[in-house]
Amino acid sequence: MTEPLLRVQNLVKKFPVKGGLLQRTVDHVHAVSDVSFTLNPGETLGLVGESGCGKSTTGRLILRLIEPTSGQVWFQGQDVTALNNEQLGSLRRDMQIIFQDPFASLNPRMTVGSIIGEALVIHGLAKSAREREDRVVELMETVGLKADQMRRFPHEFSGGQRQRIGIARALAVSPKLVVCDEPVSALDVSIQAQVVNLLEDLQEKLGLTYLFIAHDLSVVEHTSDRVAVMYLGRIVEIASARDLYTNPLHPYTEALLSAVPIPDPTVKRKRIMLQGDVPNPLRPPSGCHFHTRCPIAKKPSPCADTVPELRESTPGHWVSCHLRG
Ligand code: SF4
Repeated sequence: MTEPLLRVQNLVKKFPVKGGLLQRTVDHVHAVSDVSFTLNPGETLGLVGESGCGKSTTGRLILRLIEPTSGQVWFQGQDVTALNNEQLGSLRRDMQIIFQDPFASLNPRMTVGSIIGEALVIHGLAKSAREREDRVVELMETVGLKADQMRRFPHEFSGGQRQRIGIARALAVSPKLVVCDEPVSALDVSIQAQVVNLLEDLQEKLGLTYLFIAHDLSVVEHTSDRVAVMYLGRIVEIASARDLYTNPLHPYTEALLSAVPIPDPTVKRKRIMLQGDVPNPLRPPSGCHFHTRCPIAKKPSPCADTVPELRESTPGHWVSCHLRG
């Protein structure tokens, strides 16, 4: 059996909320609660959920761009959460991120060549200016940009091109794992497919492993080998993409899936409209976090009292629900 490239174990992140005159910690936002999963080499795991469910925080915790409250992240057998800054620096070569907003993440005062070449300098990967420039040209061409655009600034590019710059910057250090944090959600629909296709081509060519974060299931349907669904900081279901799309077990996954358009007009899918808003992560509901909106929750049932375990229903298909699986 293949050893996972990444193993996330019981990851927790609580953000302190400050208040009062002395700005003391008065509460905590429960952003990520007990999240565990693995990612195999060359695999794409889609991580899906509504805005504020903790998926982007999970991506940043894995790269240690923010510090976890507890839990562990193992990358190639190394505990990322225990590394010092120097060790973390070399690990960052292997783990990169592509951000949602390609404009906000690119320094407007730097040329595209400098943005892409910066990591080569930081990690000492180019011995001379010439070598750096050659590598930047190679990276630009790899992502479908022209070498003569190297001296231009980010504002001279379209949204799709800017995301290509972000991808080239991530690839500069030849990473193994790339966290794609909603890489297409800020782009026009017509451009989204081009960027997704580029990411897929790069994965095949360079043997990359992706954690692909998205807020709806339609984006990850064709890109992911497996999909994990998050709700209010917890993973509620994880399965192969095929299992999840054809046989969703968790009522929240069913609701998300009901919003995915079907290209065949003869196939009808009933839209499940969830009642209410996502609860405040400062005060997540007791028991199953989803019980305040769940269309199948019954009374009396353990839904409001006990957190359902993430259990393996069929091989590789895990669900966290008292009534399903
Ligand atoms: Fe719904 Fe209860 Fe299952 Fe939670 S545990 S998803 S509330 S049925």
